[in-house]
Amino acid sequence: MGSLGFQWTWERFNVPHVVSCERFFRVTPESAGGGSGRGDSGGSRGRFAARGGRFQRKDGRSGAPAHGGPVSFESGRPLGGCDLLLASISYELDFPHLVRMLAAGGAEPLRSRRSPDEPALVIGGPLTRANPLPLAAIADVVVVGDGEPAVAALVAHIQGGGMTDAHSVVDALRGVPGAWIPSESPVPPPSFEAEAGVLPVVSAVATPHSAFPDLHLVEISRGCPKSCTFCLGRRPDPVGLPESGSTLPIDPGGPTPADASATIVRRPSSIRSPFLRFAPTESILSALPSDGKGAGIIGAALSYHPGLAVILESLASRGLKAGLSSLRADRMTSELAALLKATGGEVLTVAADGISERVRSELRKDVTEADLVKSAELARDAGIHALKIYAMVGLPGETEDDVLEFAGLLNRLNTQLPVIASLSVFVPKKGTPLEHAPFGPVDRVSDRLQMLRRHCSGGIRINRVSAREAMLQWLYDHASVEDGERMVLSALAGQDDLRVFRGQ
Ligand code: SF4
Repeated sequence: MGSLGFQWTWERFNVPHVVSCERFFRVTPESAGGGSGRGDSGGSRGRFAARGGRFQRKDGRSGAPAHGGPVSFESGRPLGGCDLLLASISYELDFPHLVRMLAAGGAEPLRSRRSPDEPALVIGGPLTRANPLPLAAIADVVVVGDGEPAVAALVAHIQGGGMTDAHSVVDALRGVPGAWIPSESPVPPPSFEAEAGVLPVVSAVATPHSAFPDLHLVEISRGCPKSCTFCLGRRPDPVGLPESGSTLPIDPGGPTPADASATIVRRPSSIRSPFLRFAPTESILSALPSDGKGAGIIGAALSYHPGLAVILESLASRGLKAGLSSLRADRMTSELAALLKATGGEVLTVAADGISERVRSELRKDVTEADLVKSAELARDAGIHALKIYAMVGLPGETEDDVLEFAGLLNRLNTQLPVIASLSVFVPKKGTPLEHAPFGPVDRVSDRLQMLRRHCSGGIRINRVSAREAMLQWLYDHASVEDGERMVLSALAGQDDLRVFRGQ
């Protein structure tokens, strides 16, 4: 429920007395307790959020779920009893979970086995930017990139009395920006990037089960003016020039995705809209929540928003909290640090991404060790209690010296204020200059992670990170439509996540 896109879509589809859009959650041990909408405070029941009840679909067919299958949070409606299914997916390893949820709810996950008369399944979410291809195995329509036009078209279709079977929904979404109809085209469209006019987007729900607990999410920007070579959200290089690749060497001994030569879906290039889009500061100020809860400020380029300080001042003046995803260390100022503290900030979050000056330079990160140290000092001086720092291990060409340099930096930062190191394993993303870089290998990355832990002083908190899970992400990110079908069958056979697809 922490996904702003999920919340936004849910709110758009609900039209009193016309459309009831209800939420289904896969309940994990960590999330048990459920989300809360405006005015509701219910928790989960068992493996799937449930409140009991039986329903009849509009087409008259029974909606009874398989035993223990998912039922909606709002009314206990079984998943198989819905007229239309929408899913948002943001993480590669959620693919098998989604497949199993569909099957447990009595819906056929494989598109090729469904009749066009069955309720449509439309899938969007951040994962469509990484690789939409496997989703074609299950979805009638995949919404690639920003979903505003597709949601608007579908809401209008339904409010106009349109049918919700796959055939009708495909007709309604044909030609809508970002909408990919796999039954009609083997190639997805480029990721759609909405214009700045859609911003700010504000969440309908403040939930404790979010990266920003009990704060409304407010998206103030999309896109980024920087061109880090590993990042899907980067500003592409100018049209007509080849994407400037990283100088990181390719490891000939590393594994390579089977479809490494697949077409690269590149977005057209521009430093201006639609790639870097800011909501006007006045619009953000008038959209800030008025229910006494604060705001989780969302956007890849928060540090570049010209009104960031004004927004934080507004929240601080009303005694409201702010949560910020992460700030660029090279743009930190004492004023910003003070505003973070004034809005309840206890942790400053910055991204190093590369673990040494050399790696950061090759990634075109444009953040130096001096920037990171200065950020820690500014945070400490403002009374902020901790520094959280993002970094990736496992980049091609990485050496043990790079690992030792990062351990040294963390130890140095930890003398300023307590450090939380949020590590991840580098996963080459399609559509970036590092697309064809090798992954891992797992053993070497695991060794490097252990080495880093050994050389960090005791007070530094380091998250759990799995090189194996990252490899599964990489396999997904480079999978084809056919791989997606194999992944569906593996998930239905009860295989553990993606481990057996493509014979891995
Ligand atoms: S600054 Fe952050 S969001 Fe922008 S390209 Fe670099 S990693 Fe991506």
